[in-house]
Amino acid sequence: MEEVKCLGIESTAHTFSSSVVSLRNLTEGKILSNVKAVYNPPRGSGIHPSEASRHHTKVASDIILSSLKEAKLIIKDLDVIAYSAGPGLGPCLRVGATIARVLSSYYNIPLVPVNHAIGHIELGCFLTKLIEPVVLLISGGHTLITTYKDKRWRIFGETLDLTIGQLVDQLGRELGYSSPAGPIIEKLASNSKNYLLMPYTIKGNDVSFSGLLTYAKKLLSKGYKVEDICYSVQETAFAMLCETFERAIAFCEKEEAMVVGGVAANKRLAFMLNSLADRYGVNLKVVPFEYSGDCGAQIAVVGALAFKAGFSVSVEKSLVKRSWRIDQVDIYWRS
Ligand code: AMP
Ligand code: MG
Repeated sequence: MEEVKCLGIESTAHTFSSSVVSLRNLTEGKILSNVKAVYNPPRGSGIHPSEASRHHTKVASDIILSSLKEAKLIIKDLDVIAYSAGPGLGPCLRVGATIARVLSSYYNIPLVPVNHAIGHIELGCFLTKLIEPVVLLISGGHTLITTYKDKRWRIFGETLDLTIGQLVDQLGRELGYSSPAGPIIEKLASNSKNYLLMPYTIKGNDVSFSGLLTYAKKLLSKGYKVEDICYSVQETAFAMLCETFERAIAFCEKEEAMVVGGVAANKRLAFMLNSLADRYGVNLKVVPFEYSGDCGAQIAVVGALAFKAGFSVSVEKSLVKRSWRIDQVDIYWRS
């Protein structure tokens, strides 16, 4: 089999997305479609799992059909169907998994459960053509640094509490915006240069953002300027990420680095990381904006790679896992 055609369904949190890819290996192939619908919670609130799952149920068939149409394929052309099996919100995960199981058993197409975070990483490698970079994964569900060795993506540092996405979204919520609030916080931050001293917490090579959020809320309640708070939170959190990422780059002695996940869309962070990479002479790539957030392509790419390496599961074994660390996932498709 030269190229594997995989339909990937993503439904871990706010996004329901479906994508079709045709893949030859880690870096060769095409993304034929990548269609999504994002659940927007009411102003000032976060994602409500059952509301989000209702959204996903409503949009699912349109999104999947559009992704097939855009790819100019019918279901029977597919070699494999992949779904995001975790980590994520239980009700949301179950929507994608149930649809994938039904399609798989009705059309007799092999089924592959995919770890969502591995999806961000492998899609990033596919798009940037980097083979084994040191990776900074920064999203709503994850904040970690990893690189590949001996069949696993190994963790070199992670958050001890909130993810960077949760930090900006919860700050946004405090200001009355709904999630995802990252772009709004970035815009507000760009209107200030007045740094307010904030808690900066690194333990070993792990970061902690909860003290920073509590402090930012305190300054808000005391009437400090919103722009100054957003600027200072961003500068502090991003400096923490840069410090730990820098240490991992120095330790791993790799020449390639990659940034993936929704927060990779932040221009200030990309600037800080690029300066860091220049200092170390490292080839740093940031995942293209279109693919930085959750999407079906991240699931389809891993589904195709895993299936090509001989992996699929029966419907009975196609579980979802609300918690699932990347260093517990066997990477069949890499040597
Ligand atoms: P993901 O979970 O990968 O879909 O990423 C979503 C997260 O990325 C949310 O927490 C968003 O608030 C965050 N995000 C999106 N754009 C930006 C941005 N420009 N700056 C900071 N965070 C962002
Ligand atoms: Mg994600």
